[in-house]
Amino acid sequence: MSTICAISTPNAVGGISVIRISGEDAINIAEKIFVPLSKRLVSQMRGYTCAYGKVVFDGKTVDDAILTVFLAPNSYTGENVAEISCHGGIFVTKEVLRACIASGAEPAGPGEFTKRAFLNGKLSLTQAEAVMDVISAEGKQALNSANLAHEGMLFKKIKSTTDELVIILAELAAWVDYPEEDLPSVENEALKLSLNTAVSQLNQILSDYDSGLIFREGVDTAIVGRANVGKSSLMNMLLGFDRSIVTDIAGTTRDVIEESARLGEVVLKLSDTAGIRQTDDLVESMGVDLARKKLENARLIIAVFDASEDLTAEDKKLLEKINDKQCVIVLNKTDLETKISPEDFKDYRKSVVSISAKEQKGKKDLEDAVFSLLKLDNLNSDTTIFANERQKNCVEKAKNNLELALNALSLGETLDAVTVTISKACDYLLELTGEKATEAVIDQVFHNFCVGK
Ligand code: GDP
Repeated sequence: MSTICAISTPNAVGGISVIRISGEDAINIAEKIFVPLSKRLVSQMRGYTCAYGKVVFDGKTVDDAILTVFLAPNSYTGENVAEISCHGGIFVTKEVLRACIASGAEPAGPGEFTKRAFLNGKLSLTQAEAVMDVISAEGKQALNSANLAHEGMLFKKIKSTTDELVIILAELAAWVDYPEEDLPSVENEALKLSLNTAVSQLNQILSDYDSGLIFREGVDTAIVGRANVGKSSLMNMLLGFDRSIVTDIAGTTRDVIEESARLGEVVLKLSDTAGIRQTDDLVESMGVDLARKKLENARLIIAVFDASEDLTAEDKKLLEKINDKQCVIVLNKTDLETKISPEDFKDYRKSVVSISAKEQKGKKDLEDAVFSLLKLDNLNSDTTIFANERQKNCVEKAKNNLELALNALSLGETLDAVTVTISKACDYLLELTGEKATEAVIDQVFHNFCVGK
């Protein structure tokens, strides 16, 4: 395999930059461009040691730098690795990279270091994918679950299900060899039980996926309510600054404003919408159309009502419209004398939160209501969350095949048919962990990485 190199730090000015070289020739290439101050030879450096010196290229000093040496197999990629930490200017960093390439290293492709780590057995495919999630995590929960996946938690969970399926397959193989004999009913029941256990394990993993997605990607949230109830004010309270102009004139929020706000551990992707109502004003009616679409697509709806006024016909219409949605009802303006209370909403079976956007009160109550609505409150800290759709698809397909197998068993179909579907399920799980993934799948996984990782 060739020796590759890339800048592993961002393409921006910083204190230091790191240029990474990996492959059989990594140390030789480093020796060509790096002169340790101690005059020691780079090729005689031991693994996990570093040296201070100069990067020299074309007879000229490029920069002062630190060289760190890792020797195969004790490195990130499992190959020889040399890392040059130089000053963090964009130009100087690129010059060091240029020196590496001129000395025989090839530019690395996206995720190629991690891909090599996978190919050299340093990481499972799910662990490699988790590396990306650790890098992109934006919150504590997202980081926590990425770290658990990185530590191999997801791999272990999937592996234990796969191992059970392999045992089932081995037992079935023994029976398939004696086709004239029917599976005794005791065995049949035991088999169904094992398959059902595997299905519920996979179901648990799938249900965690939705929560995971929320932590990683945020929740599409629509703030709805008639004009002037305080939607923009609530949005500003959540965002913590005056994003939209708050005025007393009905219908000032003419289009849909989108922002991300953090509510505890969850990022809400908020859209504040023009009140959904009939209007003759063209611009405003466009806003209303957009608002309607947002309302249809949102995963979470925050419906705002003005507690200082009686419920209007428009309010009631909105309540009907959102009845079957995941929705938190917010009673705003509770700093004023109130005309309505949570009691008035009890027929709607939604959680009702009293707030005052003006006085910035009630954010924590809203947070709690949203958490329990999205079922995030019972998510424990060791929940492992998929990194992506690829993994989710594998689990879904495995589960579907196990259900087919259960069905075939109930219908008294041949053991051959049952075996085929269980072994398909097994294959999908092995594809998930990378133990039996095609090159195309592996390429696709690493294609999404950045260069240098
Ligand atoms: P929107 O049309 O639903 O977006 O409503 P706005 O956020 O523009 O607010 C309409 C008016 O209600 C503004 O004058 C706000 O200052 C006022 N308002 C908003 N929230 C509160 C609140 O909690 N208490 C009081 N007293 N007034 C509020």
